[in-house]
Amino acid sequence: MAATSRQASSVSPDAPVPVIVAIDGPSGTGKSSTSRAVAAKLGLSYLDTGAQYRAITWWMLTHGIDVDDAAAVAAAADRPEILSGTDPADPTITVDGTDASGPIRTQEVTAAVSAVSAVPEVRARITELQRAIAAGAPTGIVVEGRDIGTTVLPDADLKVFLTASPEARAARRGGELKGNGEQGVDLEATREALLRRDAADSTRKTSPLKKADDAVEVDTTELTLEQVVECVVTLVEEKQQAR
Ligand code: C5P
Repeated sequence: MAATSRQASSVSPDAPVPVIVAIDGPSGTGKSSTSRAVAAKLGLSYLDTGAQYRAITWWMLTHGIDVDDAAAVAAAADRPEILSGTDPADPTITVDGTDASGPIRTQEVTAAVSAVSAVPEVRARITELQRAIAAGAPTGIVVEGRDIGTTVLPDADLKVFLTASPEARAARRGGELKGNGEQGVDLEATREALLRRDAADSTRKTSPLKKADDAVEVDTTELTLEQVVECVVTLVEEKQQAR
């Protein structure tokens, strides 16, 4: 799939071949910060696929659809128009023309997103969007999520799977929430909610959170963001030189 789209999108025979990087892993491993920084450093586009699942979840909630009713969610999966801006310096997400970047980060959406993202019709819809975006990225793209290396872009040039201890992940997620201005963030509750979401994402039937067999695993527990970015940039450059 990626190979075909890359051929189709090359402008001249001498133009560099776009590079496709898949970064997967559970919440709080630093996926978004790492992916954005890597894309910015290498002049690539950037796609946050979690934001797309959050966007469709927000639409379901605001349209009165019971997110625990898989049949109702499936029936509505094609209705919202979801657009992602892929500039790593300013990633955007709109739903039916409305900026959804704030509302998709609320606790209400976070608590509902795993149920919505487990619905096969939702995954089919969002996966199609993701493949089209990756195929249209002129110099290549860093795509972050849960099933990018296994399902969305199995031919990616580089697959990275980020991990970290539950404590480190809860601390980072708690820090993000505080950074978003949330008051009285309870680290233990954050840890439990995060583990619950990962358990749901890892055990769903359709494309669960999983390391691809050919992904490079990077444990970020003891690493700074700069160290993880450096590590992934080096891996991408090695792949580019080998082509
Ligand atoms: O990355 P983020 O925490 O924003 O992802 C929100 C949710 O979107 C995840 O918990 C998961 O349910 C879903 N997701 C997914 N597949 C992806 C990316 C995110 O199912 N590729």
